[in-house]
Amino acid sequence: MVCIPFRRDDYKHIENVFGYRVQHTLTMGPTKGGIRYHEDVSLGEVSALAMWMTWKCALMQLPFGGAKGGVRIDPTDLSRSELQRLTRRYTMEIINVIGPDRDIPAPDMGTNEQTMAWIMDTYSQQVGRTVREVVTGKPVVLGGSLGRSEATGRGLVFLACKAAEYLNMKMSDCSAVVQGFGNVGSNAAKCLAENGAKIVGISDVSCGLHNPDGLNVAALLKHVAEHRVLKGFPGATEVTNRELLELDCDILAPCALQNQITEENASRLKCRILAEGANGPTTLEADRILQDKGVFVLPDIHGNAGGVTVSYFEWVQDTQNLSWTLEEINDRLHKIMTEAFQRTLTRAQRDGLDMRTAALIEGISRVAEAKLLRGLFP
Ligand code: GLU
Repeated sequence: MVCIPFRRDDYKHIENVFGYRVQHTLTMGPTKGGIRYHEDVSLGEVSALAMWMTWKCALMQLPFGGAKGGVRIDPTDLSRSELQRLTRRYTMEIINVIGPDRDIPAPDMGTNEQTMAWIMDTYSQQVGRTVREVVTGKPVVLGGSLGRSEATGRGLVFLACKAAEYLNMKMSDCSAVVQGFGNVGSNAAKCLAENGAKIVGISDVSCGLHNPDGLNVAALLKHVAEHRVLKGFPGATEVTNRELLELDCDILAPCALQNQITEENASRLKCRILAEGANGPTTLEADRILQDKGVFVLPDIHGNAGGVTVSYFEWVQDTQNLSWTLEEINDRLHKIMTEAFQRTLTRAQRDGLDMRTAALIEGISRVAEAKLLRGLFP
């Protein structure tokens, strides 16, 4: 836990904010996970997210344990130079616990490629040479991987396609609702549309949009590029974020914050497939209701694992000084995501489990096996 003092742009005021970095499991190799900038970030939240990263990496069979970082601040409140000073000071405060063989940060909610570039630069300045492999999710010109920025959304849609195939549904007949239009939500919507699904609902912090005839994702992206938010997009009915989740659709993809699907609204969901792009969008109580309703769940630790998987590819490329083509990256991502789907489904069917429990057991048992094999020192 660190305190981050940084100057506001007037150079008169110094703000102090809390920062965190939690490393959950050191058994599997270096730790891995994003850094979140959000006003509600707390030690408890970051710890839960770090634990999910452990199970996620284990499920995908990546050589990492889980970690997560966070700064308790609203990044939209800060100028670019304030964000840069804050990021550099935060990096200095945690510099002894991160490193390419120790703990490798990445983007999460409220951070992006630029944040990663500042962290990489600060770390490199301190050790006296460029260390690209200390973070992933960097701009491509600084050693970032092709396909990393779309990877989480793309991976989620690879899984949605597998789930649809398993349920004998045709993607081109499916309607989809996506909650969130950040990195994960916008890329998920784009990939769903590319696979023939009709996007009938979408949302961001400003509002939700509904059009049963389908929303054009390219037009949504253009609107957000011009107006920053979805609000005001023509040709759709405005709905609240709550109403959005209850819209009629085949695939619902929550790609925003945690705790969105709860005991209160779970019974009103109308989707057939729940594709979790966010971390922890469904509460424990809601999960039981979804199971009774027969909703096919692609659980978060699998649904959003495309991001950390391509982060792993980025780290491998950086440590070996080579680069893969976009085609190679997407093919490898597809293989890893769908193999994990098959392993999870086989376990679920064999042991009579739901997909979330099966995915968790897949991840946890791998960590347990590794721990037992390493044994106790001395
Ligand atoms: N923040 C992302 C996640 O929750 C990506 C982590 C990473 O790439 O290391 O999975």
